[in-house]
Amino acid sequence: MPASTTPMREAMNGKNHEENEIISWFEEVAENAGRVQTQTLGRIIELNFGVEYLKKWLGHLQFQDIEPTALESLYTSLVPLCSHADINPYIQRIADGDSSPLLTQQPITTLSLSSGTTDGKPKYVPFTRHSAQTTLEIFRLAAAHRSRVYPIRKGGRILEFIYSSKQFKTKGGLGAGTATSHYYASEEFKMKQKLTKSFTCSPEEVISGGDYNQSTYCHLLLGLVLSDKVEFVTSTFAYSIVQAFTAFEEMWEEICKDIKDGSLSPRVTSPEMRNAVLELNSPNPPLASMLEEKCRELKGLDWFSVIPNLWPNAKYVYSIMTGSMQPYTKKLRHYAGSLPLVSADYGSTESWIGVNVDPSSPPDLATFTVIPTFSYFEFIPLSRQKQDSTSAVDDFLEADPLPLSRVKVGEEYEVVLTTFTGLYRYRLGDVVEVAGFYKGTPQLNFICRRKLMLSVNIDKNTEKDLQLAVERGSMHLSRTKAELIDFTSHADLSVQPGHYKIYWEIKGQVDDEILKECCRGMDESFNDYGYLVSRKSRSIGPLELCIVEKGTFKKVLDYFIENGAAMSQFKTPRCTSNPVIIGILNRCSIKHFHSTAYV
Ligand code: AMP
Repeated sequence: MPASTTPMREAMNGKNHEENEIISWFEEVAENAGRVQTQTLGRIIELNFGVEYLKKWLGHLQFQDIEPTALESLYTSLVPLCSHADINPYIQRIADGDSSPLLTQQPITTLSLSSGTTDGKPKYVPFTRHSAQTTLEIFRLAAAHRSRVYPIRKGGRILEFIYSSKQFKTKGGLGAGTATSHYYASEEFKMKQKLTKSFTCSPEEVISGGDYNQSTYCHLLLGLVLSDKVEFVTSTFAYSIVQAFTAFEEMWEEICKDIKDGSLSPRVTSPEMRNAVLELNSPNPPLASMLEEKCRELKGLDWFSVIPNLWPNAKYVYSIMTGSMQPYTKKLRHYAGSLPLVSADYGSTESWIGVNVDPSSPPDLATFTVIPTFSYFEFIPLSRQKQDSTSAVDDFLEADPLPLSRVKVGEEYEVVLTTFTGLYRYRLGDVVEVAGFYKGTPQLNFICRRKLMLSVNIDKNTEKDLQLAVERGSMHLSRTKAELIDFTSHADLSVQPGHYKIYWEIKGQVDDEILKECCRGMDESFNDYGYLVSRKSRSIGPLELCIVEKGTFKKVLDYFIENGAAMSQFKTPRCTSNPVIIGILNRCSIKHFHSTAYV
């Protein structure tokens, strides 16, 4: 029988056919991105023409009177740019039960909570069927691209560190939770399991168990029960994988015992989770002793390469590793050993934005190719203010927003979205750089969140500036065995002059002399003009490095989780003015160093 007619080959051909189909579809929309964007905007406006929000700006028009070719310029000239604060009153009315067409013609029945770790306050954003559909679509598209570079076996498993947040009802009875939680509960998530060749090791009861510590334990346990079937390891944001393996370092013996006995540790208390996991875990002493032996060895190597050692068929580790996740890639690489790290796509609760079409590129070089059917995208050109500028408002100068087809390679922009879920010319607040074009659609580098600014007076430092300063400062740790676990910062104005406080959690012992160098190294790395001038004139005091005790950042995480955030979407705030968080950080600070630079 010719090989191509075996059932296995036929199944593979079927899958490849689906993968080729979605890639061909994308190539076509990418090729015609400008035209597709006009059509996408046309569809959004046609679907939602006459909603209360749009009436304010387009109320004098009839949709059928608008020339399709004129729609884009008419829309962008009549409807103003907006921020979340501008649409919040509408979202609040929806949350309170107003089902009239405020933002969309179809009533919105679900609200997503964006992670809220960016400016400290969670924000509601509409979630519709379209949100789940585009999530499935981008997952399939990204999976098809990965499959070409790293083929995986059909019917394999994914060790997926995913977590739903607590769901609750708004005053008006709408379901609210994080976007990832809505997605995990959707039909589309179930379809994804079938369509992307493999499915997650953990059942729904583990994903939606509500307690991330218990879920992590079960994800790891079931991942090991199915260890030879796991094709790749993943999470939404890289932080979750690092958190899971940090926990594994403490829990491996308990997990091995559970595998040996077919039992489940009393640390898992949720009855639903217990039942679901116990059903999948039957006694397996040979597997347990093999794992135990490997773990003992790995412990001696500080868990280097734990992933390919315990999951021998894993082909890669896949997660968002850019932006605020970048500091975790070092640890991820440690756990992943020689396995490739594949950077996952770029999106937000508001809309998915770009897909990684080049999975073999290293995470720090990952770009995101804009998908022109998902939303209507505009880009506000940003330029850094002149070095001697002392405007305290912002670090950027803006020009008029451009459509996707007119952005320029090498330039920076803020992303603006018009979505199928009722956001119109909504400023996302992310800064991106155009790295190139894929056919007709831009490929973006994620730069930073625009609003995350460390500022005492005329100085302005972004999340990226802080990240670079911490990277440079922590280079001194390479002379020790210690590692930086996590960090955040605060512009402390409670004493005069104000100064930057940077909090580090470190694993391992470090001499004070080295920490002093780290502190000075960070202070000298902030090179924006306002900071330099202020430091030299002493209107900003010496940078303070605060070393916090082990477990402090877990307390920060727990605070956010208690307040509705989900582990799956958690991003340690890199700069905070939240008094509760500052309270935790200050109470847990065990050492303080003040920079000796600029004396
Ligand atoms: P959320 O508020 O939880 O919806 O998070 C969305 C935000 O996460 C985006 O606006 C970005 O700031 C960040 N983000 C999402 N995907 C990526 C990515 N691939 N690289 C860097 N940052 C990302």
